[in-house]
Amino acid sequence: MPYVNESIPLDWLLNEILEHTPDSFGVFDKDNRLVFCNQNMANAFSLDKQEAIGKTMIELIKHAYHHGETINIETDDIEEWVKDTLSRKRIQRHRTFESDSKDGSWKQVTELMIDQELLVVSSQDITELKQTQFQLAEALKKIREIAAIDELTQVNNRRSFNELACVEVSKSKRYRHPLTVILLDIDHFKQVNDIHGHANGDLVLKEFASLFKQNLRDTDIFARFGGEEFVALLPETPLKEGLTLAKRLTKLLSLHTIQLLEPTMQLSITVSSGLTELYDTSDSLEKMLVRADKALYNSKENGRNQCWVYDAE
Ligand code: GH3
Ligand code: MG
Ligand code: MG
Repeated sequence: MPYVNESIPLDWLLNEILEHTPDSFGVFDKDNRLVFCNQNMANAFSLDKQEAIGKTMIELIKHAYHHGETINIETDDIEEWVKDTLSRKRIQRHRTFESDSKDGSWKQVTELMIDQELLVVSSQDITELKQTQFQLAEALKKIREIAAIDELTQVNNRRSFNELACVEVSKSKRYRHPLTVILLDIDHFKQVNDIHGHANGDLVLKEFASLFKQNLRDTDIFARFGGEEFVALLPETPLKEGLTLAKRLTKLLSLHTIQLLEPTMQLSITVSSGLTELYDTSDSLEKMLVRADKALYNSKENGRNQCWVYDAE
């Protein structure tokens, strides 16, 4: 190694660097015995440098497990954990992995094989990076939720309905299982706004969505399609069963009173719906929705507050 300043001894300099770096550094021999390390590495096993050097990797890990406040070893079976950890070592010449500590900090550990015998282990603190990663993951989860949920009613929006429903249609086609869709449109909703104001209209939409959601199964996909139109996709449900459910919910809604913003004002609403089921493997979500819409039109034409099934005739 080229080194020109003879007034500063090289081994002293390297030692100073190793003892003052925030990183951890250690070298294990072919029997996985620690032959050299700085104090930061010894700290990882809750030992002094002098105590750590000479111990095997197994002894160090077990010490950290039983007495340590540092490395986070989450296991009930330390023997198995050690076996598993050692089985991953010395396979590649170079390997990096992440490791967390009990105080919530994170390290990126690098292992490097030298001369087939020595395993050089170093680790760097990556806590800030991990925290940023976690925050980003959380933010992404929230953004995905926001993008999928209708802000007013807190049920799925049309976009997430389409995504989820496409998966259900494919599944039902593959396994030839029944699948029914109900398209719902609140009756004379414009009047609710006109008579009681937009804020009460919003409140009615919220209450409608919550009543329907409560009365559907977790596996059903319920969404606000837009405005005062909603949709329910019922996996594993033949049309006949879907119709029974739609009729029950139509009745339930018509008997339900909604408390408006003014304490003395209450309101009942009705809904019209159109139903169809998945026909065969050439059918699609789009085709089902077109049929359900035609059936819904019949419900409206025939006096509202009712459920119609699509009929090709
Ligand atoms: P029909 O029985 O034929 O369905 O009549 P309707 O009045 O329900 O249908 P129309 O399409 O004439 O009116 C729908 C109304 O829904 C008009 C629109 O202002 C209202 N609307 C749509 N979205 C919202 C919303 O987010 N909040 C409120 N308050 N009103 C909404
Ligand atoms: Mg409408
Ligand atoms: Mg309407």
